Amino acid sequence: MTTGTTGWLVIAGLGPGDAALVTPEVTGALAQATDVIGYIPYVARIAPRAGLRLHATDNRVELDRAGHALTLAAAGARVVVVSSGDPGVFAMAAAVFEAVETGPSAWRDLDIRVLPGITAMLAASARAGAPLGHDFCAINLSDNLKPWDLIERRVRLAAEADFAIAFYNPRSKARPDGFGRALEVLRDTYGDDRPVLFARAVATPEERLHIVALPDATAEMADMRTMVIIGSSLTRVIARPRGPILYTPRSAT
Ligand code: SAH
Repeated sequence: MTTGTTGWLVIAGLGPGDAALVTPEVTGALAQATDVIGYIPYVARIAPRAGLRLHATDNRVELDRAGHALTLAAAGARVVVVSSGDPGVFAMAAAVFEAVETGPSAWRDLDIRVLPGITAMLAASARAGAPLGHDFCAINLSDNLKPWDLIERRVRLAAEADFAIAFYNPRSKARPDGFGRALEVLRDTYGDDRPVLFARAVATPEERLHIVALPDATAEMADMRTMVIIGSSLTRVIARPRGPILYTPRSAT
């Protein structure tokens, strides 16, 4: 059994899916790990090897998972908590720090590092062109951890401020209606039309992108594997034989 001083905890982002989009820094941490902890599909992306324990858990137990990771690291394990995309974006890094803040004081002495990853918003944006080339914001449409009223207010204010908007977690079987309501808020708020990008399973073999005008966007176009990016009033489409480019010019003047 190793001593408590040798353990560490890394919270790492695995990127959107493709192994080529995992940073060398994350690959290096995984190579040194004794334990990998995370939501089942993310842990499934880690190659098993001798000496590495894989702990895959359901999604709704983030604080328990964080406590488990901290407990193992405090006992001397080299632990990597994995998230998809970036671990600081609607993911495990904040859950770990919440556990540190409220947990045993010994956890504050641990070596804890967050290793960034390519978040879905940026992977989707890069595939489509440059829709986030001017000011933008990101909104998580899940009301698991916040009331729907707050989400709707943020969507309305983001639209009024003319940000391009990236929606994470747009729609799930458990939350079939919220995204449709968000689309209604956007249509009510904008006086004009704008493009909407649906980018599904970016950087995986199932990747599918399409761009529609806001009036033609429907809730069914999104699921839990979809990133939705709403253009600002500046965002435009360049039509070309190889497929459209979606971009927002740098300048708003
Ligand atoms: N930490 C993650 C986000 C977790 S929230 C990140 O930084 O990317 C999960 C949501 O992210 C999904 O519902 C979907 O909206 C988006 N997402 C994650 N991976 C994706 C991918 N490969 N393609 C499109 N959207 C993705």
